[in-house]
Amino acid sequence: MIHNREWQRLAVAGFCGGCGAALDADAPVLVITLAGIKRPRIRGECCIGQAPPELPARVVLHEGTTKTIKPIRKTATQFAGRIWKHG
Ligand SMILES: [Zn+2]
Repeated sequence: MIHNREWQRLAVAGFCGGCGAALDADAPVLVITLAGIKRPRIRGECCIGQAPPELPARVVLHEGTTKTIKPIRKTATQFAGRIWKHG
């Protein structure tokens, strides 16, 4: 499976996806993107180890990902409108 690992900094406070530890905004995290899985996995220094010293002071998390988002299909809402059927 193709995956990508990249150190970034959290734009807002969050939680480590590995151990659940609270992470502050700007905390360095390793973002692991797996092929076929939309949501990247976040791991803090608590699980991966110390971030590389060359990590920039601040990087906006998920920058540019909006370009790859597929159009949302409306089939789900169309189906939901049909369930009001008295049996
Ligand atoms: Zn952790």
